[in-house]
Amino acid sequence: MIDEHNGLRLLTESLERETLLVDLSGVRRINSVGVRDWVTWINELKAREVRAVFFDCPPGIMDQVNLVRNFVQGCTIQSFYAPYYCEVCDKEENHRLDTFELMSKTERRAPAFPCDRSDCGMALDDVEENYFAFMEDQRVPPDLSELALATKAARKALDAGGGGEALPAQGDAAPTPFSPAKRMGSFDQGPLAPSVVERLAGTKNDELRPGVDMFFIVTVMVMLGLLSFIVYLILGLE
Ligand SMILES: [Zn+2]
Repeated sequence: MIDEHNGLRLLTESLERETLLVDLSGVRRINSVGVRDWVTWINELKAREVRAVFFDCPPGIMDQVNLVRNFVQGCTIQSFYAPYYCEVCDKEENHRLDTFELMSKTERRAPAFPCDRSDCGMALDDVEENYFAFMEDQRVPPDLSELALATKAARKALDAGGGGEALPAQGDAAPTPFSPAKRMGSFDQGPLAPSVVERLAGTKNDELRPGVDMFFIVTVMVMLGLLSFIVYLILGLE
């Protein structure tokens, strides 16, 4: 969830003149504050010459990419999920598409995916023109094959590392402003790995949490101390 508690700035403040590869597959939701902070964050990355490459962007993020000007200004969307639907089975599923593979074709048609039966299939559950609109602003990176390899390795490492919460199962998810629940629970890669924020947070969060816990414990101790002192005073007075 990217909202007012997002750690975007904190997670990347030490980066400078680097390539940042970001897995967005676990992002369940982004609210208006999140979008505002995201755009600021992208600008800050740009200022520090950090090149951001996003991969496995879920439909909720893609809606923002296509809707909000400057949402990914100059950043690379390497791969993304698109909502698919089979009319025969009334089945919904998200399928991963490769941006530059699609862009390399003369016609940017969404590929069909097989469904459960031999006489049906899954088609894009959106308008190609709209869902692929972001490609107008995408430039093929000069190091595309290296990026593809790095992304593949990152996916593997992140999946192996596990941890983090999976997306809610289809039907369980609460409706969100931009992304209907139907789109979020049915990724074709099984349980989803944690969001980029959680993933990136990894080590940093582990460092941060004990600090917060210590603060809480010390506060409680001080309060208890004060309380005992007051009780002691009252008893003493009697
Ligand atoms: Zn079907």
